[in-house]
Amino acid sequence: ARLANQIAAGEVVERPASVVKELVENSLDSGATKIQIDIERGGHKLIRIRDNGSGIIKEELTLALSRHATSKLKTLDDLENIISLGFRGEALASISSVSRLTLSSKPEAQETAWQAFAEGRDMAVQVQPTSHPNGTTVEVKDLFFNTPARRKFLRTEKTEFAHIDELVKRIALSRFDVAFTLTHNGKVVRQYRSNGSVEANIQRVAQVAGKAFLEQAAFLESGTDGLTLFGWLMPVGTSGTTQYTYVNGRMMRDKLIQHAIRQAYEEIAGSEEVPSFVLYLVLDPRQVDVNVHPAKHEVRFHQARLIHDFIVQAVKQVVSSEQH
Ligand code: ADP
Ligand code: MG
Repeated sequence: ARLANQIAAGEVVERPASVVKELVENSLDSGATKIQIDIERGGHKLIRIRDNGSGIIKEELTLALSRHATSKLKTLDDLENIISLGFRGEALASISSVSRLTLSSKPEAQETAWQAFAEGRDMAVQVQPTSHPNGTTVEVKDLFFNTPARRKFLRTEKTEFAHIDELVKRIALSRFDVAFTLTHNGKVVRQYRSNGSVEANIQRVAQVAGKAFLEQAAFLESGTDGLTLFGWLMPVGTSGTTQYTYVNGRMMRDKLIQHAIRQAYEEIAGSEEVPSFVLYLVLDPRQVDVNVHPAKHEVRFHQARLIHDFIVQAVKQVVSSEQH
């Protein structure tokens, strides 16, 4: 079972930041309004995510750490040959197979908290009482301790933490209603507060993208029936690395959207340089398939052409009007 899980892990658990992504998404799915992310040594040593979400009842803790072990593959070397393994319902099991993972949780309606972890080659799940407030903590220690080939690909503490920081920024701009705290080696590095006010949301954008971004960027809001684009774009001639796009509230690095934005700037300025932007596309969920890529960065639009042209027009309009 451990081997099958490790193979599944190979697909999405690339580095500490991918672990953080899966765990934070679980916390968000659980309805958490506060998420604390503690990292030690760039995530090599420790990744700990605490939330105040729904929690997991004792009877389901074992299930949460399990997946179907159906793979007939014999060695991890076959890893590269598999591209189609799904990842749904496998994140915790996969991460657990390549680290020392404990899952502690307490739903509000349950008197005591319980902790689960998987052990040995068959990954038998042990459950024991623990103390924990309402919500869930997942602690991941010693990532890739048992998969030296993967561990070799880990970069320096600083680089891995930079990936985590970048990821948390992206997530923070996807959920203004959730408070996030990020610590590294015991120090608070980011604190994204949430009190529901527009000011707090704007402040978060400034925290993530910088004050200059908010001062210089044009605000865009454009909609046709069932299709809305809003957010901020820097003017032509600036350069930036904050290039965030969201589709129906989920962060995406979608090629079609990126292409449309690049094309718009190119048509205005004739240059291929793309400045910073933070853009939210909202459309009928039936018009998109979200699970094209297991890491869920990409989507497929049913009316790709239409959406592409809509974005080009919307961006051109606001950016070129700012130029004059
Ligand atoms: P998936 O998220 O695709 O269902 P995971 O392996 O990431 O698969 O998680 C397995 C299950 O564990 C989830 O479906 C959920 O029921 C439960 N779970 C994981 N993390 C949390 C959390 N932070 N709060 C509540 N439930 C959780
Ligand atoms: Mg998950």
